[in-house]
Amino acid sequence: MARDYYGTLGVARGATDQEIKRAYRKLARELHPDVNPNEEDRFKEVTTAYEVLSDPEKRRVVDAGGDPLAGPGGAGGFGGDPFGSGGLGDIFQTFFGGGGGGGFGGGRGPRGRVRPGEAALVGVTLDLDEIAEGARKEITVDTAVLCDTCTGSGTRNDSKPVTCATCKGAGEIQAIQRSFLGQVMTVRECPECHGVGETIPDPCLKCAGDGRVRSRRTLTVKIPAGVQEGMRVRLTGQGEVGPGGGPAGDLYVEVSEASDDVFVRDADDLHCTVRVPMADAALGTEIEVPTVLGSVGTVVVDAGTQPGAVVKVRGHGMPHLNTGMRGDLHAHLDVVVPRKLDPTQTELLNSLREAIDDDVELVSTTSKSAGSGGLFSKLRNAFAGR
Ligand SMILES: [Zn+2]
Ligand SMILES: [Zn+2]
Repeated sequence: MARDYYGTLGVARGATDQEIKRAYRKLARELHPDVNPNEEDRFKEVTTAYEVLSDPEKRRVVDAGGDPLAGPGGAGGFGGDPFGSGGLGDIFQTFFGGGGGGGFGGGRGPRGRVRPGEAALVGVTLDLDEIAEGARKEITVDTAVLCDTCTGSGTRNDSKPVTCATCKGAGEIQAIQRSFLGQVMTVRECPECHGVGETIPDPCLKCAGDGRVRSRRTLTVKIPAGVQEGMRVRLTGQGEVGPGGGPAGDLYVEVSEASDDVFVRDADDLHCTVRVPMADAALGTEIEVPTVLGSVGTVVVDAGTQPGAVVKVRGHGMPHLNTGMRGDLHAHLDVVVPRKLDPTQTELLNSLREAIDDDVELVSTTSKSAGSGGLFSKLRNAFAGR
């Protein structure tokens, strides 16, 4: 039932990518509409065959006896393809969608009852430690699986599908209409068999002829360490079984990251906020910060550290997905001024104030001594930056 893409290009089934490309170029030069307007349909066929065979996923479907352009289709339409452009659904729509009007006349044929299944998508949420270590998560999926009563044939007992009487197996119905422009040929899907070319007179009672039933099952998926929000792990052949028991699509597990109480992740780096008492900021100290994978980063607070300073601790961030090399920990320091002082502390701070004898200073808008140049300078820079 599937179209012969290899035959269209005139290459062997085992042809290399190079051979396929060469065959296509040669044919495209001969058949291009600019050169040879009468061969436009063949040019389209050849181009379609090349598009299929040069795509490893689609070629895999062809080699398995299916037709990737037949599409998942079915009563539910193609809404289930979660991958947008490039998915089977799109291509299916361009060929079978309304309005086309027989552009691919000849060689289209019935789409076949057994078709590849759709991909499925499920989400899984991991906390920061699970992402750092990698995790095995149990997921529950609800997909179409092969009907075990008819093992996908869709027929009851030993009965067989028969050629559709309405379209004589073509899967489509052609009609020639006269209009003032001349004859117009229209092609539409056969309403009896829905383009399949066959009907099942005695369908399986469990799946009603579809060859598949819905089933909920639990799978364990291995999530590698270092994955990022939105990444997808593919489980080959664990998606939806196709109509007529066609090969199952893949299952994609999309990772979400639960927010953490302490750390904010930025790719492989981690950020945290550390409150440092005023005296520690002035005198300097070291702070131990337990991070992921059981490691403890030492945040070195230099004497004279100012509020808002950021201290980088190398190698205490998240492991990189591919290399396992760890990113950095960035400790954002918040200097804490005591809210209440007892009489002894007040006296001590008073002595300190006299000893240091710094003036209170109104920050100049052009001053560089205050680090960032003060509030107005910041504002001005922010506007200038636009
Ligand atoms: Zn069945
Ligand atoms: Zn039919």
